[in-house]
Amino acid sequence: MASLALFANVADRRCLVVGAGPVAARKIEALVRAGAPVRVVAPEAVDSIRDHAEAGRIDYQARDFQEKDLEGIFLVVIASSDAALNDKIAEEARGRGLLVNAAHKADAGDVLLPSVIRRDPIQVAICTDGASPVLGRLLRNHLESRIPGAFGRLAALVERFRGAAREKFPERRLRRRFWEAVLTGPVAEQVLDGREAEADSTLQQELERGQVPDTGEVYLVGAGPGDPDLLTFRALRLIHQADVVVYDRLVSDPIMALLRGDIEKIYAGKERAQHAIEQESINALLVRLAREGKRVLRLKGGDPLVFGRGGEEIATLMEEGIPFQIVPGITAANGCASYAGIPLTHRDYAQACIFVTGHLKDGSVNLNWDMLAHPRQTLVFYMGLAGCPEICKQLVQHGLDASTPAALITRGTTPEQRVLTGTLEDLPQLVQSQDVAPPTLIVIGEVVRLREQLRWFQTSGDIAAP
Ligand code: SAH
Repeated sequence: MASLALFANVADRRCLVVGAGPVAARKIEALVRAGAPVRVVAPEAVDSIRDHAEAGRIDYQARDFQEKDLEGIFLVVIASSDAALNDKIAEEARGRGLLVNAAHKADAGDVLLPSVIRRDPIQVAICTDGASPVLGRLLRNHLESRIPGAFGRLAALVERFRGAAREKFPERRLRRRFWEAVLTGPVAEQVLDGREAEADSTLQQELERGQVPDTGEVYLVGAGPGDPDLLTFRALRLIHQADVVVYDRLVSDPIMALLRGDIEKIYAGKERAQHAIEQESINALLVRLAREGKRVLRLKGGDPLVFGRGGEEIATLMEEGIPFQIVPGITAANGCASYAGIPLTHRDYAQACIFVTGHLKDGSVNLNWDMLAHPRQTLVFYMGLAGCPEICKQLVQHGLDASTPAALITRGTTPEQRVLTGTLEDLPQLVQSQDVAPPTLIVIGEVVRLREQLRWFQTSGDIAAP
């Protein structure tokens, strides 16, 4: 089960809390802070609840719960010390279609009051859906220490100038860029530094000038082999800042999930359904989008300059005078080798490593087989699945031992990673019998043997070859 994250406006929604112990007190605190009209029903109450009542912030009734307490209520928090009573109220309240938060039993209720990090007016809520309160607390501590205390004041500043900014920049995209520039520039620093008056006047000036950089830019970003943790900081920052993304088939779902919800997405894969891209080359598309003033994220699997045709795209941008930056990514060979426990070089086994395309032209791989068929070096074939029989055959014909170890790494670095090991002799048959599918990398050389000793990243897809 996954909960829906919701923030409720409870300013004029009556909330009922049954119970007035320490647990109830924490919930009451949250409700009062959110401005909800709160009634608390319990024969006894802890001091902090009595204090709230005396200060007129809540309505405390020192008595037992009655069914009519539920009338006109939006949210019921059930937190008495009587389990049977709690169950009864939960049932009754749900029967009436009220929102129920049950402190005694998570599944008796249907809403949670999550732990929040507050930087008013900003709140960050954390929910682990009951999976791990400890993890939730750790995350909360982490965020508490990472979000500057004055962050809320930044939001307040934006709030003050929102109307003016909307007038100055009626177009949403430009407005967003204006705010991004403000929130990542000197104005933000001034607010965080406690110099709010200064920030106000700087912002006022910037608004009057009314300029947002209007030329687009292209970010050629390597998304790595799949695991989102392998992105670079720069990649992540640009991923969050782009207006439009042009992405490839190989970019993993968890990385796509990092994109902003309102980003324009253009798929540049090679599937037939995507006619738009077939007609307009990707290079021309990047130029057009940047000319429209957009920040274009060209997101590619692995590294953009390793079998990624990134060079061609950049050449066009240069010709057209479009600004760009290149962010390297972890190429499949590096990611897959690490996560498979196969060192690409090794003092005893391999003094060199060659990345090779296994893409076949006219049914044969036109490669320099004499150079490739050497012991004491590691060969990494990209796009080599279809050509696997030919690759293995040629390497043996040109002098490599048929017993040379080899590995097939599919969807490396992801939870679906699968590693099969064999030799040049049985690799093609392994591809067949184990239904090996792309994206798969082929690693050939003595270093593959080290996997037995060094494997560490386990997934359910792993099988050792017979
Ligand atoms: N620019 C990319 C490579 C693109 S070529 C990079 O630097 O990694 C596409 C080939 O990369 C696929 O056919 C496959 O051989 C390999 N590949 C990419 N991601 C992979 C992954 N997660 N696991 C295994 N192979 C992968």
